[in-house]
Amino acid sequence: MTAVDTAVNTPLGGPNLPQERRLVTSIPGPRSQQLLARKAAAVASGVGHTAPIEAVAAGGGVVVDADGNSLIDLGSGIAVTSVGNAHPKVVEAVQAQVAQFTHTCFMISPYESYVAVAEALNRITPGAHAKKSALFNSGAEAVENAVKIARKFTGKQAVVAFDHGYHGRTNLTMALTAKSMPYKSGFGPFASEVYRAPLSYPFRDGLSGPDAAARAISIIEKQVGADNLAAVIIEPIQGEGGFIVPADGFLNAIVGWCRANDVVFIADEIQTGFARTGAMFASERFGIEPDLITTAKGIAGGLPLAAVTGRAEIMDATHTGGLGGTYGGNPVACAAAIASIDAYESEGLAARADEIGEVLKARLTELQASDPRIGDVRGLGAMIAAEFVDPESGAPDAALTAAVAKACIAEGVIVLTCGTYGNVIRFLPPLTIGDDLLNEALDVVASALAAA
Ligand SMILES: *Cc1c(COP(=O)(O)O)cnc(C)c1O
Repeated sequence: MTAVDTAVNTPLGGPNLPQERRLVTSIPGPRSQQLLARKAAAVASGVGHTAPIEAVAAGGGVVVDADGNSLIDLGSGIAVTSVGNAHPKVVEAVQAQVAQFTHTCFMISPYESYVAVAEALNRITPGAHAKKSALFNSGAEAVENAVKIARKFTGKQAVVAFDHGYHGRTNLTMALTAKSMPYKSGFGPFASEVYRAPLSYPFRDGLSGPDAAARAISIIEKQVGADNLAAVIIEPIQGEGGFIVPADGFLNAIVGWCRANDVVFIADEIQTGFARTGAMFASERFGIEPDLITTAKGIAGGLPLAAVTGRAEIMDATHTGGLGGTYGGNPVACAAAIASIDAYESEGLAARADEIGEVLKARLTELQASDPRIGDVRGLGAMIAAEFVDPESGAPDAALTAAVAKACIAEGVIVLTCGTYGNVIRFLPPLTIGDDLLNEALDVVASALAAA
């Protein structure tokens, strides 16, 4: 019954939605409460949610709920709708494709859009070397396949991941992920031949990039050995781990060591990719050319798609039939990806990410100057975070972080937390958000912090 009512009152999503914060009920309003009650009864409780609303439309920089509230979106569904929700080019491409055919299975009857996405990824990922790509459904699946490919190419088995790393929720990617709660706790045993090295975390370790790299490399050499190591996988900026930007020279030294030791360097750019950091890929901002890159999240304007892209000789090491999947590179998702990549390039969204980052950094740094509970403000482009601490001891303050995030959502601003210690608020607005809306959201964050 609510479905009919809602449909009548629901605005169309996309950039023409009124770009405003508008609260007409408290959050959650009555309709949202009804949905959350149904969710509690019908959906497994392991599936949580951040904002207690029933979303009915989104676009530009807002999410509208079933009660008519319009919330400012500083999360983009975890860096997915970077081109803006219901982007007109994405909507048009999806509608055209869905009316043509919805699936053939690329491994049964190939189609053009899959090849076009592979060509685009080969072109826009860092490095002028010959590249190839393969498409999958989710970020975790891309990471799984990057490891399969690296093992086949090198004939070696071990994989090194880093402290604070996040790579997904499947068995191998849980093993690669650092944080136990909530991602791994009780879900073992995990895949074998996965080892962990220390990261560069300038705010907490004070090490230079080369020193942090030397520390990691020494542990890798002593505890794993290059002769056994197929791949090193790292996010250029840790996402779930706390938006940790490594010190200058750290990534370059790790890449250099991998090259010298026949180890495949995999950059997991699933969160950092697609204009988010002010470049099409974060690797560019650090001057590195990964052997393999995993992508997902921002790739297709919200449709499920993921990819592994990399050096042709590595990508081609696998026997025919060794890679694939029923849905990987679904034609509707591929149509959305082509439209999204076009939007990133033709709308100058990487440059826009830098402008958004300037606003975020300036406002948060200003707040930090008068509030020592903000220990660190960091990030690149429109991937910015504030780390909250006890001003006396520098200890992480997860309770304050949770209170600020909750207060922001109650006031109509969707913010996400992250960090190994749960003490980081991350800002990942759609790159289509306007400055006015962004500044209004930051006013709300400032009041929430003052009140906490
Ligand atoms: C989200 C994420 C993944 C997992 O992607 P899913 O699509 O959720 O499987 C892997 N790596 C990084 C860096 C991520 O941010």
